[in-house]
Amino acid sequence: MPHPPLMSLNVATVRKQWNLREAIEGCARHGVPAIAPWRDKLEECGVEEAKRMISDHGLKVSSLCRGGMFPASDTVGRQAALDDNRRAVDDAATIGAACLVLVVGGLPKGSKDLKDARQQVQDGIATLLEHARAVGVPLAIEPLHPMYAADRACVNTLSQALDICDSLGDGVGVIVDVYHVWWDPDLETQIKRAGNQRILGFHVCDWLVPTTDLLLDRGMMGDGIIDLPAIRSWVENTGFTGYTEVEILSARDWWLRDPDEVVKTCLERMHSAT
Ligand code: ZN
Repeated sequence: MPHPPLMSLNVATVRKQWNLREAIEGCARHGVPAIAPWRDKLEECGVEEAKRMISDHGLKVSSLCRGGMFPASDTVGRQAALDDNRRAVDDAATIGAACLVLVVGGLPKGSKDLKDARQQVQDGIATLLEHARAVGVPLAIEPLHPMYAADRACVNTLSQALDICDSLGDGVGVIVDVYHVWWDPDLETQIKRAGNQRILGFHVCDWLVPTTDLLLDRGMMGDGIIDLPAIRSWVENTGFTGYTEVEILSARDWWLRDPDEVVKTCLERMHSAT
């Protein structure tokens, strides 16, 4: 295997143990060069304070998680989502995030119209893009595993996400999160199609067998069945040189452990299993 990838700590990995300050200090202590905060942690400490802490510790910000959730059952709901997304773009700009991750949203309450939800997503991103371009924050569509199509994201494959990118032009790209796309028979082709221009982030964890919770049972790299080195090589072959974000939502295991042990294990597995 060539060089180990440069790690970014997605704060979701230690969200039960650490606030943002502790996560930033943890990264600095363990030599992790980048971080990816979630907005709830930013709000806890304030965006300006977050910016100061991150720069004081010399960290890069690989992404801000997350905007999105565009579909709604009426115009008031859609407008509220857009307003919130504009604030997310501004926060991403303030902390110098390399992109804003979009978890695009699923079906509005009571709806069975998936096609309409997908159109609302496309329209929402198109509208948000103007503001995102103006402040220089790339929007990163993260396709989610189809098990989340109803309630979290109705964009479920890289192909779908790239079709949206192609129709919207500059300033929008994709996140390749192995947890969501590892099963896709078209994955290698779509990563090639995305290329270095469209791949704005690479997220890693592992798929445990069996998986006991749809959301909060992600595995540490190497503990599951995803061929991480293969997917990583496809991503790197596009010329991608960004950070590899470790994002492990794990209610029954890693969220219960000493967070320093978690970060140490992430770093080890970046070398041995990614
Ligand atoms: Zn992710």
